[in-house]
Amino acid sequence: MKKILLATASVIVCAALAILINIFVFEKNNNFMAGAQRDREQKTGNREGGDSISKEGKSKEEWKKTLTPEQYLITCEGSTEPAFTGKYWNHHETGRYMCVRCGNELFSSDTKFDSGSGWPSYYSPASDSSVGEKEDRSYGMLRTEVMCKKCGAHLGHLFDDGPKPTGLRYCVNSGALEFTEK
Ligand SMILES: [Zn+2]
Repeated sequence: MKKILLATASVIVCAALAILINIFVFEKNNNFMAGAQRDREQKTGNREGGDSISKEGKSKEEWKKTLTPEQYLITCEGSTEPAFTGKYWNHHETGRYMCVRCGNELFSSDTKFDSGSGWPSYYSPASDSSVGEKEDRSYGMLRTEVMCKKCGAHLGHLFDDGPKPTGLRYCVNSGALEFTEK
């Protein structure tokens, strides 16, 4: 009887030790992960989720104060305005389309074309310093996201079904743009 009790007790002690070791290792891993995340944030200047800092040095909260709700949702949260509702999809003036956040020149009316999509579409950006590109795997699709190269504002997406001479279609939200006459 004593032997059985002893054996049971040692099994319980072993189990308790194993649980404690597991907790310790888990904590250590967690700390390690947190550290790696911190390093990445310092390198990119971005905090994932929550309050990301743009290249302009403004937080999402600050952008919220200076932009309209629609401009904020598009440029900071990556949302898309409904087709045929923005102010530039059917806009044919001659001039330049600037970033609504930082004023960077993004597109020219010279490369704007009627894509029939309901969003302002261009076959080329204004210059090499206008837009940046990033892979976007949201909504189960593989697309190329385009953003302002200067401040990181989300603009829209890039497709390869555009007209000559580039064959590209920059499909952009009106809410990310501010038109100015030449
Ligand atoms: Zn910008």
